[in-house]
Amino acid sequence: MSQNPPDLRPDLAPRARITGAPRSGQPTIGMVSLGCPKALVDSERILTRLRAEGYGISPDYTGADAVIVNTCGFLDSAKAESLDAIGEALTENGRVIVTGCLGAEPDYIREHHPRILAVTGPHQYEQVLDAVHVAVPPSPDPFIDLLPAAGVKLTPRHYSYLKISEGCNHKCKFCIIPDMRGRLASRPARAVLREAEKLVESGVKELLVISQDTSAYGTDWKDREAKFPILDLARDLGQLGAWVRMHYVYPYPHVRELIPLMAEGLVLPYMDIPFQHAHPDTLRRMARPAAGSRTLDEIAAWRATCPDITLRSTFIVGYPGETEEEFQTLLDWLDEAQLDRVGCFKYENVEGARSNALPDHVAEEVKQDRWDRFMEKAQAISEAKLAAKVGLRMEVLIDDIDEDGIATCRTKSDAPEIDGNLFIDEGTEGLSVGDLVTVEVDEAGEYDLWGRTHR
Ligand code: SF4
Repeated sequence: MSQNPPDLRPDLAPRARITGAPRSGQPTIGMVSLGCPKALVDSERILTRLRAEGYGISPDYTGADAVIVNTCGFLDSAKAESLDAIGEALTENGRVIVTGCLGAEPDYIREHHPRILAVTGPHQYEQVLDAVHVAVPPSPDPFIDLLPAAGVKLTPRHYSYLKISEGCNHKCKFCIIPDMRGRLASRPARAVLREAEKLVESGVKELLVISQDTSAYGTDWKDREAKFPILDLARDLGQLGAWVRMHYVYPYPHVRELIPLMAEGLVLPYMDIPFQHAHPDTLRRMARPAAGSRTLDEIAAWRATCPDITLRSTFIVGYPGETEEEFQTLLDWLDEAQLDRVGCFKYENVEGARSNALPDHVAEEVKQDRWDRFMEKAQAISEAKLAAKVGLRMEVLIDDIDEDGIATCRTKSDAPEIDGNLFIDEGTEGLSVGDLVTVEVDEAGEYDLWGRTHR
């Protein structure tokens, strides 16, 4: 894949830091991007999405399960170059998906290269992803995936996941990610920022920062200047003019330094921070840090700095050895912590996880009972928090408008697919998907809000 100069090779940017072959079994795609900067934006978006879905990006033909050739068809010489590139990819790899400007002429391409797997036209990035999913199926795994369970549903064009690193250096006993994805390997900040800039230039209004361990970003760089590069990255992303939402923030002490950026409005006042449990003994058996009481102090300090912060977390109930007293501590802790959003999982063994070998596994009916009690409390907290928003004015991002004119939106407190929504039932004429509008909240439910536009 030698067609592009190195600074126009989206596949080269991550290679500078993320060394080593894709993990065993990881579906892997190669990309040849020809043509103009607009085509490059499409290539970046395709790679961004594939990376977020768990695909590896191969810098060479041999390591790829299939190759996407993003073509140019502007001049005859460009057409010839595109056909050559497709031919080279077919010879070197054999499984080729064609997209880009020349893709507008599928018959012309197939005439020269009948063996290609699929052809899509310029800026049809959703269709390219569909073709990739058919050619090299993703391997969704609820235990290691970063995207919500809705899986590989395509992201609307006004928000995009932005993957900043791969792997994790922790050893939580219930988790197999470090075995599957390896140790932390952070993408260079310039590559992440360039990708983010291109996304914003192409109309993305919200960047969802993901990785297995977002707050550890850059701590694997031996020659780093900053102790915690995530702080600089968050600040730089915050300058781009889009909403920036941080996911999977492991509870390190330096996370508190992100909060002023949220208070300043650079980063959304939203933190997705998995606590998993609150009882110190359960956390110890999980090989997780932090005692619940210290975490409560930390949460209070975050709220003092940024009163609007929305806290989302996930928990595991029924972990091996969890006693009723430990579980009750978690419930009491939740009462005090008053988190805005929570997800809760009933513990289950995952092949290869060290927690499988722990003694005193909890009976299924006990797990279910604890899950029910946990969710009942979490729901009551969510309901009360949302009720307090009635009468407030807030900015929302429109995700969808149906044929009846009902707009499905999200406030700054709602991440797509995992949190609630704000619905606007009337007065949506003239609004479009991707618009940011101000609404006044007039009704609240258990997880969702309703409002009317305020113009
Ligand atoms: S920090 Fe997250 S990804 Fe890393 S081992 Fe623990 S649960 Fe797994």
